[in-house]
Amino acid sequence: MTTARVTLPSGEAVPALGLGTWHMGESRAARDDEVAALRLGLDLGMTLIDTAEMYADGRAEQVVGEAVRGRRDEVFLVSKVLPRNASAAGTVRACEASLRRLGTDHLDLYLLHWRGRVPFQDTLDGFAALVRSGKIRHWGVSNLDVADMGELTALSDGCQTDQVLYNLSRRGPEHDLLPWLAERSIPVMAYSPVEQGRLLSSPVLAEVARRHGATPAQIALAWVLRLPGVNAIPKSSSLAHVRENAAAADIRLTEADLADLNAAFPPPEGPEPLDVL
Ligand code: NDP
Repeated sequence: MTTARVTLPSGEAVPALGLGTWHMGESRAARDDEVAALRLGLDLGMTLIDTAEMYADGRAEQVVGEAVRGRRDEVFLVSKVLPRNASAAGTVRACEASLRRLGTDHLDLYLLHWRGRVPFQDTLDGFAALVRSGKIRHWGVSNLDVADMGELTALSDGCQTDQVLYNLSRRGPEHDLLPWLAERSIPVMAYSPVEQGRLLSSPVLAEVARRHGATPAQIALAWVLRLPGVNAIPKSSSLAHVRENAAAADIRLTEADLADLNAAFPPPEGPEPLDVL
């Protein structure tokens, strides 16, 4: 049972380790496995679920809806509005459509998926209307680098997270974005924490995993979670992988582990633009 928590600016503590859903809902045949994997994740304490209207054109949200049926109150539910829908009225409409697919009357956190052409203020007006009507509890953003975050936070101070690509092979945010957010107590939600599986063949990860009697995926997740104020949201449709991922929050990496990982995956030496997937 994973118990590590991240405290949001709202004061609410959410599980450090959550469940991703990109590519869920794409195949009828996989649906039962996806629902079962999400339910197991909830049983194991990964009660933050991340989804988006974009994923499988809304069908990932339907999978999530099925997984949380009858246990909505256990879940901190996160979804995202596409930039092209993110006008004030469009944000409200997109959220209402997400709520229908999810079979719920509110989201815990609603994110702007990435910055598009709509001015931030319009999206913020949509978020504010949704908060007033009780359809979302909180709002945040995704894929915003430091300059964009500066612009956003000059308009409003309610942002609860910046969900960005962060893992051993994508350490750019450590140079500027992570310290900037930490100074303002805005958590980071690390997406693709195992680099969609591409990290898992690393010999160094295998060696560190061997020392802990763990798997490379668990070490990659424990590494992301080593920092306070950082969530990780691995996606898995496999019961075995979900069990593995849940146990990663209990692994404490040693100084020697971190030194070996730093040598194989060096931290940034200067500013790097934020990567996106
Ligand atoms: P992840 O890094 O979570 O990797 C998912 C892949 O890794 C799947 O193929 C999964 O396969 C495999 N995997 C998971 N756990 C294990 C394990 N223990 N051992 C071996 N393989 C494993 O990538 P994602 O891109 O899915 O990122 C996570 C989530 O972040 C997304 O699902 C989405 O919710 C969010 N996201 C947000 C973005 C944004 O722009 N805001 C962009 C990208 C992602 P299997 O299912 O077989 O376990």
